[in-house]
Amino acid sequence: MTTEPHVPESSTATSGAIASRVMMQRRRRVVRSALTVLGVTVVMLVLTIMNRDQQAVESCRQRMETALETLQQQHQEWLRDPQKFPLRAVAAQLGDVWREHVLDNWRFSEQAAFARRVGVCCCERPHSRLFRPAGRHVIIFHGGEHRYELTWMNEGEFAEQAEQLGLQVTARR
Ligand SMILES: [Zn+2]
Repeated sequence: MTTEPHVPESSTATSGAIASRVMMQRRRRVVRSALTVLGVTVVMLVLTIMNRDQQAVESCRQRMETALETLQQQHQEWLRDPQKFPLRAVAAQLGDVWREHVLDNWRFSEQAAFARRVGVCCCERPHSRLFRPAGRHVIIFHGGEHRYELTWMNEGEFAEQAEQLGLQVTARR
């Protein structure tokens, strides 16, 4: 489209108004696309963090399940020989990633002799999760049933039960 045919006296004012309107529109478009980019970046970031948190929880759960199986499988053996508490074998099997992340109840053997519900081990530090409460995996031994259980506790639940389970986390002091 070319210039309009006859726009009399106020033509410069009109073209000025048009120019500033075009400028405004352009600015608005730039702001809008900047906001879109920002929005997409934030969403991607949130998804990445949620995914990372979820993967950390998931791989921890898999290690804990391996430990749980080993504990349960070797339970009778341990009852026959109290020196053979299988958690050391678990630590040897799973290596540094286990040792760096897991807190053992070092008084387990002693407490398991009389307590009905004893903590075996737990995540030493809580798993933080975006928009969801942080928590830990905890392995609990049910004495009466000779059964080990893997459970997830939010930090509130853990704080309430840790002492009773014998899982003293030094950071709580
Ligand atoms: Zn963990």
